[in-house]
Amino acid sequence: MVLVLVLIWVIMVMVPTGIIFSKGLRFGKNVVVRCSANHLYTTMWIPSVSLKAFRWGFRRYQYCPVGKHWAWISQLRGPELTFEAIAEASKTHDIRIF
Ligand SMILES: [Zn+2]
Repeated sequence: MVLVLVLIWVIMVMVPTGIIFSKGLRFGKNVVVRCSANHLYTTMWIPSVSLKAFRWGFRRYQYCPVGKHWAWISQLRGPELTFEAIAEASKTHDIRIF
């Protein structure tokens, strides 16, 4: 029984985490994201566990606190993740639900 639970945990948590690392994405309490209207903010992003948003691959549909609207968001990656972008995004963090 314990082994089954471990296997389920590996599939649900470790596999998505591995995919995220291999794609160069980050997750945690302060992930820089951009909504479809180009607003930058930080949000909490936990693989496979999302109470605030519907998961759709590496994009999510959630409330944007900058434009005060619902929108698709995606994480900033690589060259997009400039100092200016991080500074802009860190001004706004969406509402914590925990
Ligand atoms: Zn927005």
